[in-house]
Amino acid sequence: MSDRFDVIVVGAGVAGATAGYVLAQAGLEVVVIERGNYAGSKNMTGGRLYGHSLEKIIPNFAAEAPVERKVTKEKVSFLTGDGAVTLDFYAGALGDPQNASYTVLRGVFDQWLAGKAEEAGAVLAAGVRVDELLVQDGKVVGVKAGEDVLEADVVILADGVNSLLAQQVGLRQELHPHQVAVGVKEVIELPEQVIADRFNLSGDEGLSWLFAGACTGGIMGGGFLYTNKSSLSLGLVCTLSDMGRAQKTLPEMLEDFKQHPVIRPLIKGGKLIEYSGHLVPEAGINMMPKLFSDGVVMVGDAAGFVINTGYMVRGMDLAVASAEAAAKAVIQAKEKGDFSAQSLSVYQQLLEQSFVLQDLRLYKKAPEFMNNPRIFNDYPAMAVSLMTDLFKVDGSPNKSLLAKVNQSIKRVGLATLLKDGLKGVRAI
Ligand SMILES: Cc1cc2nc3c(=O)[nH]c(=O)nc-3n(C[C@H](O)[C@H](O)[C@H](O)COP(=O)(O)OP(=O)(O)OC[C@H]3O[C@@H](n4cnc5c(N)ncnc54)[C@H](O)[C@@H]3O)c2cc1C
Repeated sequence: MSDRFDVIVVGAGVAGATAGYVLAQAGLEVVVIERGNYAGSKNMTGGRLYGHSLEKIIPNFAAEAPVERKVTKEKVSFLTGDGAVTLDFYAGALGDPQNASYTVLRGVFDQWLAGKAEEAGAVLAAGVRVDELLVQDGKVVGVKAGEDVLEADVVILADGVNSLLAQQVGLRQELHPHQVAVGVKEVIELPEQVIADRFNLSGDEGLSWLFAGACTGGIMGGGFLYTNKSSLSLGLVCTLSDMGRAQKTLPEMLEDFKQHPVIRPLIKGGKLIEYSGHLVPEAGINMMPKLFSDGVVMVGDAAGFVINTGYMVRGMDLAVASAEAAAKAVIQAKEKGDFSAQSLSVYQQLLEQSFVLQDLRLYKKAPEFMNNPRIFNDYPAMAVSLMTDLFKVDGSPNKSLLAKVNQSIKRVGLATLLKDGLKGVRAI
């Protein structure tokens, strides 16, 4: 392997592999360095890739990529200990190519994407950890990995949520517990036909199901279940700063979640084949670091590019789009022969024009809105008690619908409900 490249990309997650692919296609000499033994070996996601940004770069990618299922069904549930109120949505339009989303397993998906970068001409150096950035006269000029020193005009940091390298050069501060959540996930194997039958799916159709309430013991966070071809991805995410007041550890919460009457029959007979844990950047644009400096740019989770609105979690499509923008900025910098911060600021302009910063700004208030214990305690309980009242017939004189609604609202009060509702409409 040469020790001088046009570009060094640190990390072969979806962001790093995309950057490698776009740069290599443009004819630049690029190496993608991954500390895992193969791309995807250290990566984790809940499981749903919104395909639009990758579709733009590799048209019709899903025909070739190892995606699991195309999501055409959405469910969102509010849970109490033994109850659930669920919104269930099906629309064929969710499967249209321009807005399709897919369940993925990163161990296979990232290998495929990194393989595309290699096919385009990028060098993939797996099993190598970058220890440090090389800095000369305030400019990043390469990386150090063990005894090896590699030099480049630009380093792209695609090293994920806990980017220590960005901290080394002052692009980012240490993470605060309220800026990140911790996620745990089990992949549970079940026969393809059993999944189709249990979730009422046909062909390659898939389901995304998010949960709020008792699954996290009322702590800020939620649960998720995604159907893969012949497995389910089931997990929980909790904000780190809130975990201190949790009664149980996250793995214990996951065990309880698996015993919930809504979940237990769905995973029955399944075999645990993978267990993982990871941090998620959760503060959106409020935690956005300085995105570039002389000789260096940051993409994907390293830059905190994740949107969580409660009914939707998006990180991978932002990782792909930000990596494409960074690669384009580097290609322009190469044409000018200028890799200064000033020249690389094109990256920020490209992000401003794309959905990445526009969506992050749109959902700026989502983290603050969700930092509300009522969403994870009172509202699920209210929804379940109202539905219980509606459907319960016990021989005692019934009440009008209005009386039942009023009875349920009493728990938080109408004014609080309206205030939270308004806040929610504005934030998500
Ligand atoms: C529980 C959970 C659920 C989620 N659900 C979803 C979802 O359903 N949909 C969605 O779109 N997003 C979801 N996300 C977010 C999504 O997974 C991330 O936004 C996405 O993985 C970011 O990709 P990335 O390439 O930027 O970072 P990563 O995938 O984290 O990749 C970083 C890579 O850098 C490597 N690396 C790190 N340091 C070094 C080093 N020093 N040297 C060499 N290599 C290094 C790592 O090994 C890794 O391969 C979820 C995240 C979690 C944790």
